[in-house]
Amino acid sequence: MSNEALRPETIAAHALRAVDEATGAVVPPIYTSSTYARDENYRPKLKENYVRNGNPTLWQTEETIAALEGGPSALLFASGMAAITTLFETVPQGAHVAAPDIMYYGTRDWLKRLEGLGRISLTLFNPETPGSLEAALQKGRTDLVWIETPLNPTWGVIDIEAAAKAAHAAGAILAVDATATAAVTTQPLKLGADIVFHSATKYLNGHSDVLAGVLVTAAENQRWADVRMLRTKMGAPLAPLECFLLMRGMRTLFVRYRQASANAMAIARYLERHPGVERVLYPGLVSHPGHAIAARQMRDGFGGMMSFLVKGGFDDAQRFCTRLKVIVPATSLGGVESLAEHRKTVEGPSSPVPDNLVRISVGIEHVDDLIADLEQALAGS
Ligand SMILES: *Cc1c(COP(=O)(O)O)cnc(C)c1O
Repeated sequence: MSNEALRPETIAAHALRAVDEATGAVVPPIYTSSTYARDENYRPKLKENYVRNGNPTLWQTEETIAALEGGPSALLFASGMAAITTLFETVPQGAHVAAPDIMYYGTRDWLKRLEGLGRISLTLFNPETPGSLEAALQKGRTDLVWIETPLNPTWGVIDIEAAAKAAHAAGAILAVDATATAAVTTQPLKLGADIVFHSATKYLNGHSDVLAGVLVTAAENQRWADVRMLRTKMGAPLAPLECFLLMRGMRTLFVRYRQASANAMAIARYLERHPGVERVLYPGLVSHPGHAIAARQMRDGFGGMMSFLVKGGFDDAQRFCTRLKVIVPATSLGGVESLAEHRKTVEGPSSPVPDNLVRISVGIEHVDDLIADLEQALAGS
């Protein structure tokens, strides 16, 4: 059966192909070798013979992710930021980039750095204002539009299809940071995006024990060849042992994601009714401004990421996090264990994130234990 005929759940559970052709191993061996011998005619046996250029463990992991996203090719990097910074290396000198003003702060900091160096010109648009993405574009000058959806940490939703149309009309490509949705609910390439990015550290791996990033392309073009070349030359591919861990994590991607989504929905409804909570930001709630687009764009659950505003200020939100006993007060997201984080502490005073915002990455625990923990932490305020 071709991979196109298989559903994503099956592709993930089998890590693309369940059985190793050479040995019959149901779990593939990890190729740790840094170099590969040539044959008796001095020809390489594989398409690459040095680990930094590629290796069988890397390829299987990449092919699994490409199949999940519905693209012809994926490239794995040593971290999400390695993938992001490599992609921005392909923007021509002096060209224009548009991106949302609220997004993953590492990406925003990097774009501002490139702008400060005169390497790119940059427009940050407010995705909550209709038409602001279109207004940010400069026809013939904008090279790349970067969006994130849902947006970290307000979980605002950007319409990928409309963003792709606008980017293409201006002669730019659209790249989507889909870390918070992980192919389970949204496949940005099918909605017109040119490149999809994941911090694979998050949902794809799902066990808070791997650092990895991935780009998937809609087309094998010159830019993609440049990304591949840059990854090799800058020395940024993911190492084989990490690829194996990532592949193991991805086998359960769908059940993890669905459980986290169900838990998150229940928690969002609970928090929305709580008198100690000013506002809940979760795209699954009808009260969320992005709900209508999310309902169209996210097929099967709204994910495990949410934020809420504690009644009070900076200190109240921080103290709330210290009172949690089950939910772990830690950064990152997409793991099986729930994490809570006071975002302003992490992002610093220059961040536009509200002082009283707490972000929760909902895990796969029993939802009653999570709600009881939130209840006692809120009661202590
Ligand atoms: C974590 C994260 C990144 C950066 O990825 P790393 O794997 O930490 O380098 C980028 N975008 C989003 C939305 C993230 O959550």
